[in-house]
Amino acid sequence: MHGTLEILDNTRQGPEARPTRSEAEEAVRTLIRWAGEAPGREGLADTPARVVRAYEEWFEGYDQDPAEILKRTFEEVGGYDEMVVLRDIPFQSCCEHHMAAIEGVAHVGYLPDDRVVGISKLARVVEAYARRLQVQERLTAQIADTIAEVLKPRGVGVIIQASHACMTTRGVRKHGVGMVTIRMLGAFRNDAATRHEFLTAVGGLHGSN
Ligand SMILES: [Zn+2]
Repeated sequence: MHGTLEILDNTRQGPEARPTRSEAEEAVRTLIRWAGEAPGREGLADTPARVVRAYEEWFEGYDQDPAEILKRTFEEVGGYDEMVVLRDIPFQSCCEHHMAAIEGVAHVGYLPDDRVVGISKLARVVEAYARRLQVQERLTAQIADTIAEVLKPRGVGVIIQASHACMTTRGVRKHGVGMVTIRMLGAFRNDAATRHEFLTAVGGLHGSN
């Protein structure tokens, strides 16, 4: 299906590809020296260990399987056949070009066919893909495609509004610039009324960022 390659291209490397913790800490010392500092300075002594632990949190998405998150909890829909929308899901990600922070919100909607999923699971899917090295376009596509593949709804819409530290703190240094990416599938793509209903439910494309 459309998007499958994008889904596959930032999954976890095999265990043999991972450095040891002390190798990772040594790499942080190298970057500290590159920044112009002495890694031996007292205030920096524990920094490499902290950074490596922070990486475990920032990139914990590699240990999560978003399809499994959705599969575990689907239920019979009990006659509900209207759109389900979860808006303003906050997320933090990391741009794969600069390894700088991406911060934003995701709006996720779908039109159930015969299965619904607890809304917290939609937020967890966003999180599982956000906590990897990303580009915003792929993040948006992965969330939508996974929901489409697992829940097989009549349609899916995902909108992400985010700001990229690589753009606000370096390069062009444009503070306050937001990027919007959209992936619409099924009825969200083909049916103008459904698309409009979704855009209205999320409050349009301005606001949060
Ligand atoms: Zn970047």
